[in-house]
Amino acid sequence: MKKIELLKKIINESKNIVFFSGAGISTLSGIKDFRSKDGLYNMKYKFPPETILSTGFFYAETEEFYKFYKDKLNCLNVEPNIIHKYFYKLEKEGKLKSIITQNIDGLHTKAGNKNVYELHGTIYKNHCIKCGKFYDGNYVFSSKGVPKCTCGGIIKPDVVLYGESLPEYDCNHAINDIANCDTLIVAGSSLTVYPASGMLRYFRGKNFVIINRDKTDYDSIATLVINDELLNVFKQLYIE
Ligand SMILES: [Zn+2]
Repeated sequence: MKKIELLKKIINESKNIVFFSGAGISTLSGIKDFRSKDGLYNMKYKFPPETILSTGFFYAETEEFYKFYKDKLNCLNVEPNIIHKYFYKLEKEGKLKSIITQNIDGLHTKAGNKNVYELHGTIYKNHCIKCGKFYDGNYVFSSKGVPKCTCGGIIKPDVVLYGESLPEYDCNHAINDIANCDTLIVAGSSLTVYPASGMLRYFRGKNFVIINRDKTDYDSIATLVINDELLNVFKQLYIE
């Protein structure tokens, strides 16, 4: 049986799918990895992104932080692609338990999915560090300079910065869903970054599917591995 036919069969027969959505899913929507080493940004910013997007830097150099943040991480106008839409369809059909992602673009939620665990947070949620008031992404990205609350406090994105721990609620639910699903599909992730790598070992189900252009360290324990461009694969699963 061809791999794509096998994948269709697995999905058809599954009742409780968990999707682990990697950075490759966002790339297809045109979102660039802010870590990519294009010379342009190297000349423009004095510090590497890992430094700027750290909790220490946020509090010490808030203005610089927001210059980079607004320049590099604004994806409010980016639209969900075929993969986001496909997993929304699976949720509507009652086959998908949840989506776990480290992407902060909120695109799975934008596509309509309700059960999304965002391990690194999202640009759509922001809070005042003083009074805790909520602000949406639009408010933050359209503000001049450092976004401020009506109380005068600085607003901080609910995005997990370097040096911060992951949101407990999302992590616990993610692990619980992985441990109890019948099929786990991982796509667009090299699976080298914690916590993705650590969470997968909770899987006890039947089908572990990896869809990725390049090989991963988990290929040997997967039930099905498809090394191909994501678009090629999902075009065969979902007709818009
Ligand atoms: Zn406030």
